[in-house]
Amino acid sequence: MRIVHVSLGNRSYDIKIAPGLIDRFGRECARLKLAARCAIITDTNVGKRYAKAVFNSLATTGFSPALIIVQPGEGAKDLKMVQACYNQLAVHRLERKSFIVALGGGVVGDLAGFVAATYLRGLPFVQVPTTLLAQVDSSVGGKVGVNLKAGKNLVGAFYQPRLVLCDLNAVKTLPEREFRAGLAEVIKYGIIYDAKLFARLEHNLPKILKRDPKLLAAVVARCCEIKAEVVGRDETDDGQRAILNFGHTIGHAIENISGYGKFLHGEAIAIGQVAAAKISHKILGLPERDAARIENVFSRAGLPVQTGMKPSKRQKLLAAMRLDKKVSGGEIKFVLAKKIGKVVWNQRVPENVIHDALDEIVNRKSKIHNDSGFRQLRFVHL
Ligand code: ADP
Ligand code: ZN
Repeated sequence: MRIVHVSLGNRSYDIKIAPGLIDRFGRECARLKLAARCAIITDTNVGKRYAKAVFNSLATTGFSPALIIVQPGEGAKDLKMVQACYNQLAVHRLERKSFIVALGGGVVGDLAGFVAATYLRGLPFVQVPTTLLAQVDSSVGGKVGVNLKAGKNLVGAFYQPRLVLCDLNAVKTLPEREFRAGLAEVIKYGIIYDAKLFARLEHNLPKILKRDPKLLAAVVARCCEIKAEVVGRDETDDGQRAILNFGHTIGHAIENISGYGKFLHGEAIAIGQVAAAKISHKILGLPERDAARIENVFSRAGLPVQTGMKPSKRQKLLAAMRLDKKVSGGEIKFVLAKKIGKVVWNQRVPENVIHDALDEIVNRKSKIHNDSGFRQLRFVHL
């Protein structure tokens, strides 16, 4: 088993990474010395596969779990759902030392984490992320929250879990498209922080796409380590944590104007990272070879590197970028790469350079070979 320690003073916790952790879930929770009553929050897709194992493991170690199952998808991150969860917790009489288990992907983690952060002014919270994306990204760093009509994640908190268990067996049942979308965040860690990880991903991509558990354990652990290091230095998102947003300014705009759901988050940020690499080449002299390696690795992972939108959408993309919640004073700041493994944040970029990069990702035929074994996604024109 690999263990990544997230060091945040008295809110420090461990991320444990191994195949089969769900089967010994109860024992892992017993070490935390919490009350017997607890609640598992999951969605129907994950619940039908893993809820029974988690439930039984808790019950046989002396816990008294309740199971709360929500519909899958972003729609569950809603205040009405939060209220429904609170009511269930009250029925099950959870107390201050009771705990909540988030069993699922990023959606369940955000919802259950927000419920845990607020019910009785905060209950202990254990995460079992079951998507690759949640394992390497949303389960580290303590951001929890729900959506409003006005925008995603507008209500939330920084709330750290007591323990995170990444069971690599659970990832095996993840739909192929979701798995590849998770890889977009994995590749991001290589670009922003670790050239060796990037080279390792390039080299081992076919094995990773086959979800080789040993390789996956090493890769997930390294990503968690990087995120933990970055978050540890900047827990509340004012400075260095910004580097985690590489590719996200354009990625969020793509998600936004194409209507959430058309592109998965990972797909949108794959395109965003390709564009950010092109801008980095022009502004910071990122070697052309590095920009090409970046585009190539996303493409080989079966991720989109351009949007398939009509060129006329460029203005809309730009407008959406200005609305991003990370923009202050109307000025768009970018995270840009100096080389693979080294990025800087807070970079101003002249509008014409942004335009050129957007032109390139808007509607260009990708010439790059895709060796993922899966058809390159084709997107209809918006
Ligand atoms: P993410 O972690 O990508 O933010 P979600 O929580 O929305 O996203 O999960 C993506 C989808 O994958 C959802 O439909 C969810 O029910 C499903 N899912 C999550 N984990 C698994 C798994 N291990 N096996 C099968 N489906 C899963
Ligand atoms: Zn992201």
